[in-house]
Amino acid sequence: MRQRGRSRRKNRRGKNGLYLAVLAAGAVAVGAGGAVWADTAFQEPGDVIEASLAQESGGVQTGESLSGEESVSAAEESVSAAAEESTKAAEESTKAAETSSKAVEENSESAESGSGEESASAEEVKPGIFRSEREFSTDYVYGEFSAIHTGKAAFYDNRQENRKGITVCVNAGHGCSGGETKKTYCHPDKTPKVTSGTTAAGAVKSSAISSGMTFSDGTPEAEVTLRMALILRDRLLEEGYSVLMVRETEDSQLDNVARTVMANNLADCHIALHWDSTASDKGVFFMSVPSAASYRSMEPVASHWEDHNRLGKALVDGLKGQGAKVFGNGEMEMDLTQTSFSTVPSVDIELGDKASDHGEETLRRLADGLTDGVNQFFGTV
Ligand SMILES: [Zn+2]
Repeated sequence: MRQRGRSRRKNRRGKNGLYLAVLAAGAVAVGAGGAVWADTAFQEPGDVIEASLAQESGGVQTGESLSGEESVSAAEESVSAAAEESTKAAEESTKAAETSSKAVEENSESAESGSGEESASAEEVKPGIFRSEREFSTDYVYGEFSAIHTGKAAFYDNRQENRKGITVCVNAGHGCSGGETKKTYCHPDKTPKVTSGTTAAGAVKSSAISSGMTFSDGTPEAEVTLRMALILRDRLLEEGYSVLMVRETEDSQLDNVARTVMANNLADCHIALHWDSTASDKGVFFMSVPSAASYRSMEPVASHWEDHNRLGKALVDGLKGQGAKVFGNGEMEMDLTQTSFSTVPSVDIELGDKASDHGEETLRRLADGLTDGVNQFFGTV
């Protein structure tokens, strides 16, 4: 299962050099007796071939067949032979192996933590979980459509024993002050919306991000989506996923497009958490991709809508399995900015409405259900 690797290669611009360098270093690491993270670069036969090629075309030189350990024992033999030149050569060889190992650790860290150029210092926030902040990049595909992107996302790199090598973007819906005063295009091809929701059908632009509804008890939706996101983050980390949080505080300063393109580039799927604006406690459902032919033929929707709907169904299944009430058949067609710009499986999940309970216990059960759905989607259970 190399979902993350595939999506990263697909979305990354101009990073082949780094990628090959990591693979080349990884090849050396295996020879050098196994750097901690080297295994992750070698799970697909294709990777091994790429790595060999990279090594041949100028990777770090340590000798074709000598492992690091062998180099060291070769060095010891040379010393016992008391040949000065041999000793020197052996020392250099050992040193080269050490340097290679170090390069591998550094490169592997960049690879593991998402994107090379933004690998800021990661802080170990709990054993095996490393948190770093990620800035929005104007190089991201569709990045130019975002109006608000000064905020940062938090990347939780899971290096625990049970890590899955899959990153889930958790999007706490709403929570971006000033989001309603700015407009962004609904679609990358600037065509009008095909369904009516927060923005009416026919509109070409919508709010960069809306402020959300208020629960019947007076609690703002944005406050509940944030609590839900924090619970889900910890639940997914426990389960072995890495997590990208595009909002972790009251105000993220990342609009819908910015959150979406960050998920496209740094995660393997994108789950936006919401509660609907009705007040009937109608149950959970996901916003599915509209069946309008014009919409489903527009990129990137055309290439990804089936994955969006498959993820949505898996999430509703998982929630149902944890006892959640499901609204109708669990889906409602909606033309959303999120899915209009998504190139990884991406879903807006509505976890109830204004009248729904949003106490701690309920949110924990919803987090369990969503995690079950993610497991089902990625086939890890
Ligand atoms: Zn909402």
